[in-house]
This record gives sequence, C-alpha cells and structure tokens, in this order.
Amino acid sequence: MEGCKITFDGSRLLVGDEPVIPFIEGDGVGPDIWAAARPVFDAAVKKAYGGRRRVVWKEIYAGEKAMAMFGTALPDETIAALREYIVGIKGPLTTPVGGGIRSLNVALRQILDLFACIRPVRYYAGTPAPVKRPDLVDITVFRENTEDLYAGIEWKEGTKEASRVIAFLKDEMGVSLREDSGIGIKPISKTGTRRLVRMAIQYALERGKKTVTLVHKGNIMKFTEGAFRDWGYELAREEFGDVTVTEEELSTRYGGRLPDGKILVNDRIADSMFQQVLLRPAEYDVLAVPNLIGDFISDALAAQVGGLGMAPGANIGIPYAVFEATHGTAPKYAGQDKINPGSLILSGAMMFDYLGWTEAGALIRSGLERTIEDKLVTYDLERQMEGATLVSCSGFASAIVERM
Ligand code: NAP
Repeated sequence: MEGCKITFDGSRLLVGDEPVIPFIEGDGVGPDIWAAARPVFDAAVKKAYGGRRRVVWKEIYAGEKAMAMFGTALPDETIAALREYIVGIKGPLTTPVGGGIRSLNVALRQILDLFACIRPVRYYAGTPAPVKRPDLVDITVFRENTEDLYAGIEWKEGTKEASRVIAFLKDEMGVSLREDSGIGIKPISKTGTRRLVRMAIQYALERGKKTVTLVHKGNIMKFTEGAFRDWGYELAREEFGDVTVTEEELSTRYGGRLPDGKILVNDRIADSMFQQVLLRPAEYDVLAVPNLIGDFISDALAAQVGGLGMAPGANIGIPYAVFEATHGTAPKYAGQDKINPGSLILSGAMMFDYLGWTEAGALIRSGLERTIEDKLVTYDLERQMEGATLVSCSGFASAIVERM
C-alpha cells in the first residue's frame, strides 16, 4: 500500500503529505455515515492543498463486521494497525447492555490508553436547538477516559467475587453492605487526573481560551472526585502557575478582571455545572471532567446546540488518537442513507486540525455551516426546522462538498 506513516518524535506528530489513516466503518448506521463522510474528507483535502496532499485510507475492522469476518469483535490486527499508524477514525460500535462483549469503545480507549475524550461543542447557525441562545455555547469538554466507574471493575450480584468483596468490606473495613448488592469500583488517580488537566490547559493556551473549569462531585465523593479537583489545581499551579489564576486570586489580586494572556482555572460541582451551562454558557470555555460525569455533560451540551447528530469527538492519548462519531449505531436507521452524518464529518474536521491540516478542517466546517444555512438537512433537523428541504445522509454530504 502507498502512503506514509504518521510518526511521533516524543513530543509531536510528524505528518507527511500522504498519511495512511485507518478507519473503522462501525455497526448499524456506521457504513451510511462513513460512505457519506469520506468523500467530504477527500474533497476538503483536495480543495485545500490541490494534489499536494491526500489521505490514504485503510480499512480496519471491529464490531459486527469483524465478528463476521474473523470471529472476534476486536481483532489484534485492528489494535496493531492503530498503533502502527497512530491516528484513526471510527463510526459507532454496538455495545450490548448488561452482558455479552464488553464495550469495544471502552476497550479501545483502555488498550491504547486514549485518556482524554475531547468533545468540542459549538453552535452552527440555523440548527434547531431547544434553548434560546445556543450561539453562546462554545465549550470543549475534556472527559477522563480510562478511570472512574468506567474502568469496568465490577462484580455481579450473587457471585463468589461480589460476596468476597462484601465480606472483606465487612470484616476488614467495618463497612456493611446488603448481601444482594452488585459491586462497582470507582478509581480516580493522581496520574490520570494530572495528565487530563494538563492536556486541557495546554489546549486552552494554544487556542486563546480564557477558562478551564474542573467539574466534579467532590462534596460527596471526597477522595475520588474531590481529589480530582485538588490534583487539578495542584497541576495548574505547579506546571502553569505563570499563566493561570484561580477564582480567589482573580478577586483578591486582579480586581475581578482576568489579565491578558492568563487563564482562569476554577471548579464547579457537577449539579451546579449542569445549570451553569444552561444559564451562563458564555462564561465557560474548557471543562476537565472525570469519566462518568463527563459522559453526561458531553451529551447534555450536544443536545443544547441541536443534538448528537452534530457533535464531534476524539479519544486522545500520547501518542495515539481515534476520532469518532459520538452517537450510537441507531440500528433502526441502518442502511437507509437517512441518518445525519454531521458528527463523523465534524470529527474528521477535528482530525485534520489535529494533524495540522487546519485549512481542510476549516473548509469542512464552513461547508457544513452553509449547508445548514441553506436549510438542506437530514430528517432529524428537518423535522424541527421551518421551510427546510429534506436530504439523505449522502445528499447532506454532497451539499457540504458543493459549499466548501
Ligand atoms: P443512538 O444509536 O445514538 O441512537 C439513539 C437515537 O438518537 C436515534 O434513534 C436517533 O433518534 C438519534 N440519533 C443518533 N445518531 C443520530 C444521527 N447521526 N443523526 C440523527 N439522529 C441520530 O443510541 P442508542 O440507541 O442508545 O445506542 C445504540 C447502540 O449504539 C448501542 O449498542 C450503544 O451501546 C451504541 N453506542 C455506541 C457509541 C460509540 O460507538 N461511540 C456511542 C453511543 C452508543 P430518533 O430516533 O429520534 O431520530
């Protein structure tokens, strides 16, 4: 196969003009949105760089397609390819509830140590949204991706393991639990917190953002979520002390005005934060959040600007990165060329930014913005918009290409 490998020199990615990028189509509507998105990616690169740059796409397999072809939902070759080529992109994968295979998405994040789930949420003019001022939302969520209740350390009610843990807690720790409890463990580490908050602050600095907010439920879960807050502040002070100020310093030292070039690092308890993003979204730029609460707030914010169909996302570690549609497999729409491909398309734009191909990313976003302004939209948006024209999944993608 032609193309070159993206490499990592220990501090940054080195991207040639023809990088090989592996993709996973995904289950359910995955093939629909991939078939729509790929021509948008290729057209953006072509338009931005003429023939000088192109992506060499390489299909790799996970989920139902992998199961049918190789008898396993996550073949070793898939992980090996993501390690070899460093940056990949994927559609949604089915996760059975309460049994069967464990989440493939969670497995990928853990195996490749993709410790930050990054979700930039902003409003595209004309998108139907449930709030009065969706345009005030421009918030990027950094959700910790490998720890917390998502670490998958749990035991089913009635099993030998659950009984042993319950007995240990009773005998050794003086904690008494109902015998018929299922058990889950919530680990949050200093290491995991510091690297997430570091990435969030670096992102804010690179993009001229003004605030980084540590979101947590530390008033109740003091040694996990509370520690997340404390370690976050500690990291900010130790590694970014010259460019960050706390809320207290803002009022005592700076009279409430953030000095130029500085970032405000503050914290909010999760329940209050859910109100803040609805009532005062303009005051927040970047959120650093433990895994479970990060999951909730990412989707809530996406809904605020018009829904999951339009929300991009990336799972990023050092050095690996996997960009992905943030919605699920929406199985009832599979194969109908109907679903909104916006999430995967915008994830691709994010990927190009990450590779330093920002012109291609910008073209995709402007094409999408104009398509929505022209009211050419898929069913999910069309049913909420006055005077809109319904287009298919692939029709939406073609309209974006025409408007780049
Ligand atoms: P879902 O697949 O996201 O779909 C739920 C509903 O959201 C759809 O019925 C549709 O609503 C709307 N929707 C989702 N994607 C859309 C799009 N691109 N355009 C327009 N509308 C969209 O959620 P689910 O039914 O809870 O999950 C199905 C499967 O996906 C599960 O196995 C789940 O574990 C998995 N999942 C995977 C990922 C991932 O791979 N990252 C993420 C989440 C869920 P309407 O019917 O109202 O139109």
